[in-house]
Amino acid sequence: MTSLVWFRNDLRLHDHQPMDEALRAGKPIVPLYCFDPRQFGQTCFGFAKTGAYRAQFLLESVADLRRSLQALGSDLVVRVGKPEAIIPELVKAHGVEAVYWHEEVTREEVQVEQAVEARLGSLGCKAEVYWGATLYHPDNLPFALPRLPEVFTQFRKKVEQHSTVDGVLPTAVKLPPLPPVEPGPLPTLADFGLEPPRADPRAVLTFAGGETAGLARLHHYVWEADCLKTYKQTRNGMVGANYSAKLSAWLALGCLSPRRIYETVQAYEAERLRNESTYWLIFELLWRDYFRFVCAKHGDRVFYPSGLRGLQIEWKQDWERFDAWRNGTTGFPLVDANMRELACSGFMSNRGRQNVASFLTKNLGIDWRMGAEWFESLLIDYDVCSNYGNWNYTAGVGNDARGFRYFNIPKQARDYDPDGLYVKHWLPELEAVPAAKVHEPWKLQPVEQKRFGVTLGVDYPRPIVNLQKSVQANEKIYLAAREIRRPAKFR
Ligand SMILES: Cc1cc2nc3c(=O)[nH]c(=O)nc-3n(C[C@H](O)[C@H](O)[C@H](O)COP(=O)(O)OP(=O)(O)OC[C@H]3O[C@@H](n4cnc5c(N)ncnc54)[C@H](O)[C@@H]3O)c2cc1C
Repeated sequence: MTSLVWFRNDLRLHDHQPMDEALRAGKPIVPLYCFDPRQFGQTCFGFAKTGAYRAQFLLESVADLRRSLQALGSDLVVRVGKPEAIIPELVKAHGVEAVYWHEEVTREEVQVEQAVEARLGSLGCKAEVYWGATLYHPDNLPFALPRLPEVFTQFRKKVEQHSTVDGVLPTAVKLPPLPPVEPGPLPTLADFGLEPPRADPRAVLTFAGGETAGLARLHHYVWEADCLKTYKQTRNGMVGANYSAKLSAWLALGCLSPRRIYETVQAYEAERLRNESTYWLIFELLWRDYFRFVCAKHGDRVFYPSGLRGLQIEWKQDWERFDAWRNGTTGFPLVDANMRELACSGFMSNRGRQNVASFLTKNLGIDWRMGAEWFESLLIDYDVCSNYGNWNYTAGVGNDARGFRYFNIPKQARDYDPDGLYVKHWLPELEAVPAAKVHEPWKLQPVEQKRFGVTLGVDYPRPIVNLQKSVQANEKIYLAAREIRRPAKFR
């Protein structure tokens, strides 16, 4: 008899309950990863569902997991195909008694695990399913998930007051040898029709996939570079590797467990110092938890154009303006720099994400799902709950107590990029424009354009929209949608 551990978005050996439980069962173990071709298809609006940046990060993460398993005396079985087809084959061929995995909460992922579970049932094989993606385990929350508060602050206060974080599970030190099964080769980017992404020297960080690199990043950020102590002050930055923790990509694929980060912060607080900044990293991880619990509670509503609130807003699908947004040619340097950073590196700061999402939805009035899918395609750290939860929130259809909230782009630019260093980093055509003028190039007189070597409409685009008028028009549409009575269950 054999056990099978199905790795999904949990590509690590530390704090891994399915592996821990399989080891306890004391049987030979088949560790498995399936590259599901459906994840390499297209989004509804026709973008690559997994773009080259994340695909590469995923391949590196799986390779790293395989190396770690080999070092412990086992191996990783790698297959390309649907888990609901591959797992039952392995179950039959190797007399697997139980399959262990971490559950997910969103539609596509849940459908896959339901299909696997149904097949296992008919084969008389057990499904051992665990929750492992969040800092707080749902069993430790002071409310059942259907009663999750709709406002983040209420959630956070209750959790901070009444809940505890479970300890990190120990990492295996030795594994039983892999039963006689062909481990299989790792696919390449070309197998998914993808070109290797170009490494842009302007990127904030080289994100190398895998648990080893994730743990190294955590160690570097907290202990070596000693950045945790100032995290709260720096976290809204946009330039450089260390303004924020840059842990999201490893969290998204489960190369890092949030409890491991929590434990590291606690160790830092005990050994070095405890302040608002050390608390704030945990505060941010609570946002991540919240969006996952929100998706678990609300199911598919997070994907509807009307969002969690059920607001019937008439979103536009204006491809010309959407193209300007995604190509970074809107004429608003803060937006353009961020969108070019995303396209050239697969990453964007949180400050940037909030601004470009606000611009797309509150200035252009464009369907927020187009933006969410573009992010899904490009972000190395794409996480279905964090992405769709945040897009709901910034589009005003999610859990934002404040309703129509928009970002004043030039003001944000002055506040968070006062010297213009960030926009010049990604928009070299604005290099010679003084900081005081660089965030509003449309105000440059012809003589200034000549002096600073930038001709509007030639070297850098003119604004595609009037900021004030567009916000007013979209606010009207939003408020009208709010007036429409929604069914009681959505209120
Ligand atoms: C429109 C939009 C889309 C987003 N899409 C994603 C996504 O697909 N994947 C993703 O991981 N994050 C997403 N975020 C959240 C946030 O921007 C990133 O987690 C953060 O920028 C990653 O950088 P970091 O690790 O340096 O974050 P830090 O500022 O160092 O924060 C530490 C960790 O806290 C968590 N966190 C911080 N802010 C948020 C937040 N608002 N929501 C959820 N978790 C948060 C992340 O896990 C992050 O790694 C999105 C935000 C917006 C506004």
